[in-house]
Amino acid sequence: MRCDYHTHTTYSDGSFLSWMVSAAERARLDAIGITDHCTISAREGPRRQRANMGFNLDVTYERRRSAIEAMRERRDIEIHDGVEMDFHPDDSGEIAAFLDEVGFDYAIGSVHELDGTNVHSEDHFAEQSAAARRSHVATYFDRLVTLVESELFDVAAHIDLVERNSALRGLATDEQYRRVAEAFADSRTVPELNAGRVRSEYGEVHPTPQFTEILLEEGIEFVLGTDSHEPKEIEPRKAELETFTATHDVETTTLSL
Ligand SMILES: [Zn+2]
Ligand SMILES: [Zn+2]
Repeated sequence: MRCDYHTHTTYSDGSFLSWMVSAAERARLDAIGITDHCTISAREGPRRQRANMGFNLDVTYERRRSAIEAMRERRDIEIHDGVEMDFHPDDSGEIAAFLDEVGFDYAIGSVHELDGTNVHSEDHFAEQSAAARRSHVATYFDRLVTLVESELFDVAAHIDLVERNSALRGLATDEQYRRVAEAFADSRTVPELNAGRVRSEYGEVHPTPQFTEILLEEGIEFVLGTDSHEPKEIEPRKAELETFTATHDVETTTLSL
């Protein structure tokens, strides 16, 4: 593994930039992509969430860019100025204008919002019927396909995020996986092999082996991301990604930056 394309710093919900870069060097990576969360939606829900959480890369990206530029001069590792954008189909126009204006090195797109809340929210989905939960999973994949077809992003992150939520886990269908695979085949956007929860209760990379197999049948290549928020996460997650790619014959690719 040469580059970790997905990490967070204190510009969203991660650790100090210098700590993350040092950890990437210790993990013997050649490059690290800094991809803090960014929500630019004017819709009420995301606006409130952004205010609650304090994520505001939309207004701090210039400050972070200066910090990255200064750090590049002191370090041997390549440091990429990236972003993990919240994607919702209703926000496509605003996202396009924002990315065009800011000019990150690359952009990751993520579907984090489902049924007006975060996909991770266990309680919200656990109290709903099986039919309702299946319908939310279908909506998740509809939004993911729209994300891929939008061509707004270089990378689509953790493409079966619903698996992280025990109330939504196991409800996705092969047909949904195939639709996503076909969308990737026609798009510049590549999926990410994501190790964000590989050493937690969920214990798997995204996508699942079954979904990965369907993507590989379609000839899809992946970029690798640890989705680390703390320095100590980078090295073990890198090892997990290397093991998964080797054991599942995953084709990896690099972004031209
Ligand atoms: Zn994410
Ligand atoms: Zn992330």
